[in-house]
Amino acid sequence: MKIRINQLCQKLDDWQLSPAELAARALRVKPEAILSARLVRKSVDARDKGDVHFTLTLECETARPVRLPRNAEEIQNGIGDGSLFQKSGIRNRPLFHSGGRCLVVGMGPAGLFAALTLARAGLRPVVVERGRPVEARERDVAAFWRGGPFDPVSNVQFGEGGAGTFSDGKLNSGIKDARCRTVLLEMARAGAPESILYQAKPHVGTDRLRAMVRNLREQIAALGGDVRFETRLTGLAVDAGRVTGAVLEGPGGTVELETGAVVLAIGHSARDTFEMLLRAGADMARKPFAVGVRVEHLQRRIDRAQYGPAAAHPALGAADYKLAVHLPGGRSAYTFCMCPGGQVVAAASEPGGVVVNGMSLYARDGENANSALLVNVLPEDFGDGDALAGVRFQRRWEQAAFRLGGGDYRAPAQRVEDFLKNRPSAGPGEVAPTYRPGVTWTALDGCLPGFVAGALRQSLPLLDRKLKGFAHPDAVLTGVETRSSSPVRILRGEDLQSNLRGLYPCGEGAGYAGGIMSAAVDGMRCGEKILEELRVESGE
Ligand SMILES: Cc1cc2nc3c(=O)[nH]c(=O)nc-3n(C[C@H](O)[C@H](O)[C@H](O)COP(=O)(O)OP(=O)(O)OC[C@H]3O[C@@H](n4cnc5c(N)ncnc54)[C@H](O)[C@@H]3O)c2cc1C
Repeated sequence: MKIRINQLCQKLDDWQLSPAELAARALRVKPEAILSARLVRKSVDARDKGDVHFTLTLECETARPVRLPRNAEEIQNGIGDGSLFQKSGIRNRPLFHSGGRCLVVGMGPAGLFAALTLARAGLRPVVVERGRPVEARERDVAAFWRGGPFDPVSNVQFGEGGAGTFSDGKLNSGIKDARCRTVLLEMARAGAPESILYQAKPHVGTDRLRAMVRNLREQIAALGGDVRFETRLTGLAVDAGRVTGAVLEGPGGTVELETGAVVLAIGHSARDTFEMLLRAGADMARKPFAVGVRVEHLQRRIDRAQYGPAAAHPALGAADYKLAVHLPGGRSAYTFCMCPGGQVVAAASEPGGVVVNGMSLYARDGENANSALLVNVLPEDFGDGDALAGVRFQRRWEQAAFRLGGGDYRAPAQRVEDFLKNRPSAGPGEVAPTYRPGVTWTALDGCLPGFVAGALRQSLPLLDRKLKGFAHPDAVLTGVETRSSSPVRILRGEDLQSNLRGLYPCGEGAGYAGGIMSAAVDGMRCGEKILEELRVESGE
């Protein structure tokens, strides 16, 4: 008998019980009666600090029929393990009136999953990435964080795995799409922790993510994909409104690749590529985004605020939070991309700019918690200008942060108490900032738009009411966080193509995703649309 058990309460002290033991208990049968069992969902319920526990959904199979408790039901099939990748009979047919191969630009989650979708269908895409393979990239980024030179080719934004490679690898997303399950399954098969298949808030951690990305690339190559690193898309050949080729600059020089289908999964930091697209005539628009700082606290204070007396229990990992306030005047301030037990990272992609972001290991066992504390920025805040006005706005504040930090990629930082009292900081209190290559203690107003600094000052006491200790005097603010989302949208129609036919703007940079999961799903969708288009063209 196949059974799903819903809303099962698991005490923290039972954390080491296996799914089969938990199922046996819930069904009041002996453990031997359970043939197999697995977790479908696991979340922490900390609403009552005196009774923090897990809430589980389990699926199991019993040898014989059993009497079901009220929270259990008989099922025919368990949660799907099948991948949604489409098969196609099309093997490298000439694409879209052109004899070339399909091109995927960028190897972030969107590009990787677009390429996998195409490669699984037998299309052998060419996949180009301006940065280096993840192994080399790790070394480049580590050297920069130790105080070495900034590398515009290989950094936290550019290189295999994309912007989320040095991240917490959170995979939760607001989108409801059956492809999310496929993404999780493929990631778990490629080396992400099994727990992403059932955690309510799954995360991979930067350590596991790097291995996973390498395995995904190897799969694409094994299926015939032609993966080229340090190769940048610098131009498009367009004939009668249709893409017919792509100009690629790589280690061997400049080549023009004949292609009629380009998945443009370039992320939100490919500013030179945005400029090229504008010149090539792609329809683009300004889009709202956000600007702010990273805030760091001692993780144990966050654990205490979220879990109360249960905070130190070994069953509980580092606690997270997600907060928002709407301010008088219409602005909002909110936390974003919270990294429990993590580290603030230097995430610039251009020389002469300081950009902060956050990452964690899978274990999330660092001393500090960090998150972005952001204020929404609207197109009217950028002033007049073309579709790239938001990019110039971001750059202005990143360069201001660079100067304020001392001009050597140290980031400007300030204690919350000092920020609220409008005085510069002279040094840390209980929270030691984790940003490398280091911070310069100062006043952050010099690198924030006035309305952002004002909204942050208004919001901190309000957020402290929602999470005790959020505005702790010694919490550290590090600036400036400008790249939480794209300031640009590359317009596309229902068929996911731009006004330049054959160009598929995809993922976060094009304005159609916000995070690893939604970018990966958008990559799959663009790959599927190309397959659909091919079927139309080939009359299948
Ligand atoms: C430090 C950090 C932490 C983050 N943490 C999380 C998190 O925990 N969870 C989450 O959901 N999201 C997180 N994000 C956001 C997440 O990384 C992005 O939403 C996601 O990576 C977007 O995927 P993408 O494929 O659209 O673009 P990207 O991942 O940005 O990938 C774009 C790729 O295209 C390449 N490229 C750009 N231009 C060209 C060109 N002209 N030619 C060739 N290649 C090009 C770039 O080098 C890059 O590798 C984080 C981001 C950062 C920077």
